[in-house]
Amino acid sequence: RELPGDPRTDTIPRQVLHACYTKVSPSAEVENPELVAWSERTAELLDLDPKEFERPDVPLIFSGASPLKGGLPYAQCYGGHQFGVWAGQLGDGRAITLGELLNSHGERWELQLKGAGKTPYSRFADGLAVLRSSIREFLCSEAMHGLGIPTTRALCLVTTGKLVSRDMFYDGNTKDEPGAVVCRVAQSFLRFGSYQIHASRGKEDLELVRTLADYTIRHHFPHIDKMNKSDDLSFEVGGEGSSSVVDLTSNKYAAWSVEVAERTASLVASWQGVGFTHGVLNTDNMSVLGLTIDYGPFGFLDAFDPSYTPNTTDLPGRRYCFANQPDIGLWNIAQFTATLSSAKLINKEEANYAMERYGDKFMDEYQSIMTNKLGLSKYNKQLISTLLNNMAVDKVDYTNFFRLLSNVKADTTISKNELLVPLKAALLDIGPERKEAWTTWVQAYIEELVSSGVSDDERKVTMNSVNPKYILRNYLCQSAIDAAEQGDYGEVQRLLKLIEHPYDEQPGMVKYARLPPAWAYRPGVCMLSCSS
Ligand code: AMP
Ligand code: MG
Ligand code: MG
Repeated sequence: RELPGDPRTDTIPRQVLHACYTKVSPSAEVENPELVAWSERTAELLDLDPKEFERPDVPLIFSGASPLKGGLPYAQCYGGHQFGVWAGQLGDGRAITLGELLNSHGERWELQLKGAGKTPYSRFADGLAVLRSSIREFLCSEAMHGLGIPTTRALCLVTTGKLVSRDMFYDGNTKDEPGAVVCRVAQSFLRFGSYQIHASRGKEDLELVRTLADYTIRHHFPHIDKMNKSDDLSFEVGGEGSSSVVDLTSNKYAAWSVEVAERTASLVASWQGVGFTHGVLNTDNMSVLGLTIDYGPFGFLDAFDPSYTPNTTDLPGRRYCFANQPDIGLWNIAQFTATLSSAKLINKEEANYAMERYGDKFMDEYQSIMTNKLGLSKYNKQLISTLLNNMAVDKVDYTNFFRLLSNVKADTTISKNELLVPLKAALLDIGPERKEAWTTWVQAYIEELVSSGVSDDERKVTMNSVNPKYILRNYLCQSAIDAAEQGDYGEVQRLLKLIEHPYDEQPGMVKYARLPPAWAYRPGVCMLSCSS
């Protein structure tokens, strides 16, 4: 007889109906688990004494082999649109929340193990994670925080001592790799897909959308609950004959959807500012708090390339390439507001208003970020688009170029053949025929600097506070992974220290600001698959 859950005959993933989560226990097998690294900054959020990490049971607790005292582990149910297509129930297939901690500031932080074994949402996979992708998630979480970008955090990374088998490039080849578990930390891991799943199940679960929305607002958007009717939050939506007024004080769900839209817009704008490409912007990977979440095949730009796509699963379509992220953010917000509409929490005008706010907020933030990156006092569309165009043509390194740009002096008397000197290190490969285009651009840039009236020294300080010296380049991650797979965790720990202060010069560390070596462009380093 066919038994439910038998993968040979039961080919439909088990549906968890009428519930937002399932109680589970971590079940990763371990054999001499080891602590690879831990983040002091994240430990501080949790009021954890550094001495705690000397305890011998730390690798056991954070691999899930020993229970966390007082924990109530569970896995969340969510769904999502994957690559633009509704995929039904997904859920925490390899993530298990251990529980929440209340810190001395009264903040609640959720601790979650990623890679600690199967849950009811694992579908046909093993619920495990490999060291390679765990190092990437651990480091990038803290790197994003160092850059000042909202993100889920990482507390620590442990190996399980067991091997995990992974399909490398969908070519049928598998490889045994060391297993690992990251402990992620966030105020909430709720995603757009957490609401979508219940709305998708129709009438019976629509009430759950409201219950979960109420929970989210109460715990994570408490200011919305405290809105006053007398607050002036009425806005006109649409225009030219078809406009209507949306009053956010009259519907907390509308106010909430607008805030989610705005947070998402500023998040995406900040990604564009540092050249971060998420890689898998499915709606199940969109945090309702506006955090960067679910680090898989992400990548930072080295050479500027708007079509950069770090995810091999996304070729040749490039839906989630660097330049598409702003539009995808809007597409995802449209799915989110459609969900709230179908649960009758917001009406059409309110949904439209949230989408309008996404667009406006994104443009405001993006323009201000780019203006600051250039050290200008006002937005100059022409100057910025010519620059990005030049950078794309000449494949200029995104990070190093902007860092060097602060060395350009607001001086119109500099002779034409000296103009590119401050940028030399970023423009080494340009041919003589491209020199003219760059010289023209620098001339226009200097004129704009002169008109801003800010001193060179002052501008350099502010530019260096928004243009990082160090980013978590894929090849740096890969070097740390190669060493860690040989049992040497020193490079992971050094990179962690480096990326905690990406805007500082860190004189002893300049080799980490170097351009990628040739091997960095091979698949598996600059591109990874979703299953990474
Ligand atoms: P992602 O591409 O990481 O956003 O994952 C998409 C879905 O696949 C989520 O529901 C994950 O929990 C699930 N998933 C990914 N990897 C695994 C795994 N190794 N075991 C079980 N579920 C997984
Ligand atoms: Mg995910
Ligand atoms: Mg993932």
